[in-house]
Amino acid sequence: MSKTCLIIGAGMSGLTAATELRTAGWNVTLVDKGRGVGGRLSTRRIGNSRLDHGAQFFTTRSTQFCRAAAAWQAAGWVAPWYTEDGHTRYRALGGMNALAKHLARHFHVQTETKIETLAVTGSHWQATSESGVTFEADALILTPPAPQSIALLGNLAPEVTTALSVIDYDPCFALLLTLDGPSLVPAPGYTRPAGGIIDWLADNTQKGVSEGPAALTIHATGAFTRKHLNTDPAEVTRLLLEDAAPYLGSTVTASQIHRWMYAKPVADNQSMCISAMHPAPVAVAGDALAGSRVEGAYLSGLAAARRICEIR
Ligand SMILES: Cc1cc2nc3c(=O)[nH]c(=O)nc-3n(C[C@H](O)[C@H](O)[C@H](O)COP(=O)(O)OP(=O)(O)OC[C@H]3O[C@@H](n4cnc5c(N)ncnc54)[C@H](O)[C@@H]3O)c2cc1C
Repeated sequence: MSKTCLIIGAGMSGLTAATELRTAGWNVTLVDKGRGVGGRLSTRRIGNSRLDHGAQFFTTRSTQFCRAAAAWQAAGWVAPWYTEDGHTRYRALGGMNALAKHLARHFHVQTETKIETLAVTGSHWQATSESGVTFEADALILTPPAPQSIALLGNLAPEVTTALSVIDYDPCFALLLTLDGPSLVPAPGYTRPAGGIIDWLADNTQKGVSEGPAALTIHATGAFTRKHLNTDPAEVTRLLLEDAAPYLGSTVTASQIHRWMYAKPVADNQSMCISAMHPAPVAVAGDALAGSRVEGAYLSGLAAARRICEIR
């Protein structure tokens, strides 16, 4: 009988680990608390407009990820957007979440399933969701942000939670806007205004992701977001709009604001994944363990799957 692995989280790390384990003959169960797959590979709709909401692009530095990106490009899932500092920025066709959906195509991901408790019975993991559904597996891979994985593990694997406890994240406000005419965002559709409260501003129409005259994604800096964690979202929107004014060029027709609590890991940790044999095989993966990017999430998911294959 195939060995079984439960993977918590269907973002880039979880989907990569699932693909690797499936290839190695494992029986994989993937759960995610979100309404769909992708995690921070998130794309939202406002009317006919489509806006990348979390990750805006990915770069490729490692041989393994270059190979994966080349396969995704050949499949027509991703395409180069622009090149800066010698690194090509890839966009996903149809938005970053479409890439996650492609990667999830072989799996029946159990979405809207938030794991609340973990236990070990004998040498098996037992995970129970908020709605009382129980999952059992020989091995476990956790991919939520570190503080959430620590809370789930409790005192089950102290060496893992100790290693995770040093990881911190910057939060990020994301403001999404549709406009009734073209924006003034310079080609090829992004800017990083210096010295203000905006870290990144992109026009999803120019990027080739959205229909409509202009659809903007605005990310606030980590410092601004930390300072305004408890500020009324309407006031945060007003402050960001004030800073974004030189790039609007047309009237705002709709807006949405969202706060990513765990947007980007602060320090660059290169441990790839953290694992333990006892009380049952477990590995923790995520961008925080292999560079704070989509590529890091991919590499970490791959490392976690390989570690699980080794320790069984
Ligand atoms: C605003 C923003 C901008 C970014 N820009 C870029 C960029 O331009 N380029 C780049 O390379 N990277 C960027 N990133 C980072 C990139 O998005 C991440 O590195 C990558 O997507 C992380 O993937 P992951 O699988 O490690 O984590 P996640 O995508 O966070 O996946 C974790 C998953 O676990 C699920 N989960 C959590 N707890 C539970 C639970 N208890 N039960 C079930 N499921 C659970 C979550 O729903 C989530 O889907 C950005 C991130 C943000 C937020």
